[in-house]
Amino acid sequence: MVCLNHPDREAVYKCAACGKPVCEECAVEYDGDVYCSVECQERGSAAKERSAFIIDDTAVNNRKRRKKGFVFLVIIIIIAAAAYYYYSQNKEEINSKVSSHLEVVEDTVENAKKATLNTGHSTVPKDSKYRRQREGIVNQK
Ligand SMILES: [Zn+2]
Ligand SMILES: [Zn+2]
Repeated sequence: MVCLNHPDREAVYKCAACGKPVCEECAVEYDGDVYCSVECQERGSAAKERSAFIIDDTAVNNRKRRKKGFVFLVIIIIIAAAAYYYYSQNKEEINSKVSSHLEVVEDTVENAKKATLNTGHSTVPKDSKYRRQREGIVNQK
């Protein structure tokens, strides 16, 4: 690869903005990057500043988000504390309510179990027409 401006010279750098090859003499160095011209250098550094600004913006947004998360956490803790306070103040009442609910659930499950067993029994015919006919045939012989 030869220099863009000097076809007889070997290019040692590649422009950071447009990618054109340039020799040592043509290279424009700025802020750790090498450009082929002053125009490219201006373009490149402007882009760099823009991206730096965007990065800065992201950092601010992250800080905001963290703050929001913290506020949310505090609200959750307050709600939990309030719930616990309410529970500790009305412990007896809540416990009896919960256990009576549990009894109802247990009864319902037990009844459902019995009902299922009963349906199972009743669907098996003890004395069917088919069976009587079969017995009649057997007895006739
Ligand atoms: Zn360039
Ligand atoms: Zn050159």
